[in-house]
Amino acid sequence: MTTLTQFDVLAIRREFPILQQEVNGKPLAFLDSGASSQKPRQVIDCLEDYYKRYNANVHRGVYKLSEEATFAYERARGKVARFIGAASQREVIFTRNTTEALNLVAYSWGGANLQPGDRILLTIMEHHSNIVPWQQLAQRTGAKLDYLGIDGEGRLRLDELDQKLSERTKLVALTHQSNVLGTINPVRAIADRAHAVGAVVVVDGAQSVPHMPVDVQALGCDFLAFSGHKMCAPTGIGVLWGRRALLEAMPPFLGGGSMIKVVELEQSTYADLPARFEAGTPAIGEAIALGAACDYLSEIGMEAIHGHEVELLAYALERLSAVEGLTLFGPRSVEQRGAAVSFTLDGVHPHDVAAILDGENVAVRAGHHCTQPLHRQLDVPATTRASFYIYNTHEDVDRLAAGLEKARRMFA
Ligand code: PLP
Repeated sequence: MTTLTQFDVLAIRREFPILQQEVNGKPLAFLDSGASSQKPRQVIDCLEDYYKRYNANVHRGVYKLSEEATFAYERARGKVARFIGAASQREVIFTRNTTEALNLVAYSWGGANLQPGDRILLTIMEHHSNIVPWQQLAQRTGAKLDYLGIDGEGRLRLDELDQKLSERTKLVALTHQSNVLGTINPVRAIADRAHAVGAVVVVDGAQSVPHMPVDVQALGCDFLAFSGHKMCAPTGIGVLWGRRALLEAMPPFLGGGSMIKVVELEQSTYADLPARFEAGTPAIGEAIALGAACDYLSEIGMEAIHGHEVELLAYALERLSAVEGLTLFGPRSVEQRGAAVSFTLDGVHPHDVAAILDGENVAVRAGHHCTQPLHRQLDVPATTRASFYIYNTHEDVDRLAAGLEKARRMFA
């Protein structure tokens, strides 16, 4: 693995095979890591090595291959636990993605703990995967939903907390970093307030865990959900971290093989953590490769990654602010946000913006980014989003700005 004494973006780029290709003589400016990141050679090699050398089911076979696969799978769990500062690797549950992790909490914790009239506090900036499971839970249990609003710069209205948080609030679910506004939310302060009324705090870390140091103890939450595919790992693997006492008290989410102790005809007893929440054959190679992704990111250093992104973000905000007719959403201060930048361009539909950028081999995302309530609040049907990661450069930002100028001229 590359040893990086300082943040060397060109060395990092060389680790990503996909970034080596050109389309129509233009290199790829990949600005859609918020949707899914690219994968370094180290992670691709790790996945390939599993399938070529020791592919076997885990926790079952007594033969050597299965033991090797089991060892690697559980070692990956330990790497994830260390990556987020978990007290124990038993607190790390492998899921398919953030969405499944949030649904697990909603079904299992929510089903066991919510009563009619209880309240669930969300924020208006949530991704649909941190809204819909709670709506479904509210429909099943008779609980009610409340939403914390945002100010003109897309920051949470903390002044609403006193009014929206009460002893009826049993759960607060919020994103650590908005996938549209880039806003980094003050999770610790909100978690402390939520705990003071006895609520459990669920954090959607899909956009924070890949981009900055995240320590669950410092964050002060009770559950944290995130996806491997946004942090250099393959698709199909995600994580739910939860406090051990809470997880141990929760009923299983899915039933089946691997999650049981004894199965009788009428009933079963369940395995201890984490197996209790991992029914069926898991995504073995993907979990092992997530461990490799944690190693890869840790070696570069999450502080360094965040620093690189802040620098790119500052440059992007400066360049994009100079584009005539462009409206930027989210906080102006780089201290309050991460490097996902959403905007509209007067007179050009966001999908047309994305299509013109694609012609320049600049990949961005356009649409509502799975945040319809937020877009309704922003009073726009859609935005274009550029999201940055470890392998992006100032040149990528320049090409984005040039593509936007081109779109503006074409539609003028
Ligand atoms: N939450 C946020 C903030 C996201 O940005 C995303 C994905 O874009 C998700 C949740 C859902 O992630 P996944 O599709 O991997 O479950």
